[in-house]
Amino acid sequence: MKQLTHMAMLAGLLSLPLHLLHSQAVIIHVTSGCSHSPPTDSTVFGVDHYAFPPSPEAEEVLQELLEVVGINPNTFQLKLSEQAENAMATIEGGQRYILYSESFFDSLRRSTQNKWAIYSILAHEIGHHTLGHNFNVTDPHDRIAMELAADEYSATILRMMCAKREEALAAINQLDESRSHPYYPPIIARRTQIDISWRARDDSYRLNGGDPCGDRSPLEFGDGYGQKRNRARNVEGHIKDGELIINFDANPIPGVQDYRSYLVISRNSDISPKPESIEWFTDPRKVGQGRQLRWRFADDGYSRDLVWKREELGIAVFRPRQVPYRVKWHGYVPGATALLLGGVKLAIWDDLRGTSRNIYNTYMTYRNPDDLIYQGDNPSRIEVRQEANQKYWWAQFYRNAGIICLVGGAFLLTERIIVDRRGRKGHLYVGQNGVGIRLNIGR
Ligand SMILES: [Zn+2]
Repeated sequence: MKQLTHMAMLAGLLSLPLHLLHSQAVIIHVTSGCSHSPPTDSTVFGVDHYAFPPSPEAEEVLQELLEVVGINPNTFQLKLSEQAENAMATIEGGQRYILYSESFFDSLRRSTQNKWAIYSILAHEIGHHTLGHNFNVTDPHDRIAMELAADEYSATILRMMCAKREEALAAINQLDESRSHPYYPPIIARRTQIDISWRARDDSYRLNGGDPCGDRSPLEFGDGYGQKRNRARNVEGHIKDGELIINFDANPIPGVQDYRSYLVISRNSDISPKPESIEWFTDPRKVGQGRQLRWRFADDGYSRDLVWKREELGIAVFRPRQVPYRVKWHGYVPGATALLLGGVKLAIWDDLRGTSRNIYNTYMTYRNPDDLIYQGDNPSRIEVRQEANQKYWWAQFYRNAGIICLVGGAFLLTERIIVDRRGRKGHLYVGQNGVGIRLNIGR
């Protein structure tokens, strides 16, 4: 009888779906925690979460992150809970958990096309735990500070793992800007926090070395310089033994062979390289991938932290005729002079035209060629007509010259103003293997 019961039980069990038999779901009653972004409904807290083992991919990301931070892998348990909506850090029964929604991760993978979004979210949750945040805190100010601290943590870890700045921002950029919550800072503030923290770690590597991702970092000034006319892209710099080494690509324009490359320094910068310390390792008149410039700043008496100001440095590559010109006040003189000359010539034209008309009227009034109406040397009637014609010809001449001067002057002035506006972003330094000219833009 006992055996029969056993068999019946076994048969009953076998008919059940297998995964339930082996289900490793645990029930975690979540009272409080920190979600990556504000949860949409209230079923996240104060309820039982059915927490499943994480997907191998998510577990792998977590282990990778913990390895970088140097934390014992057993410190947290990563669990899959669709009730978590996005991802959250929580402590229940003395155990630290990170709960995440696999469908949220899936949609993030699809929308960002970037693996770093998930890294940054898990790093954010690790941050909450590592920084010892108390999830029972209800003061909104403290909660906001906790979120920003976790974002800072996440950005720092991502930089340590060689994610680019945009990659560190990938997850936050997916959040709905219109959703607000008293515990969460606005998205723009979180974005700023991540941006600043990523840069801070980057700059620290720049100055102190030890970058695990190789010693390079994007320069941004060069990308913006001259806007669309600037062909330089992917400008990256690093410092090594008293040298600033800048690598960049320069996009070709079909049919154009000749270019001019420049080291660009912000107008606000105090640094001023000597042309003889600048050396192009690739031809500055050519474009293509993998261009390089080196500046031996130590020769100019600068230290590495004086030189390393990423926003103040860059590369610009222009077509020769599109280089922003040196702009000074006398740059406006030719245009203004031409305008003035044009005005004077038009005044002369008007005067001559009047005189010519008067003489011609005289000629028309006195029909008899023998009339003694002419004064002075008494010219003949024919001579009077010739004089009127001559004056009229000169009047035409001054009118045309005046128009040319006015149009030319207006063109020169407009061009100066455009060049000035375009060029006021920085200095260009030309250094072509020791033979260089320094151009001051916008001074
Ligand atoms: Zn958080």
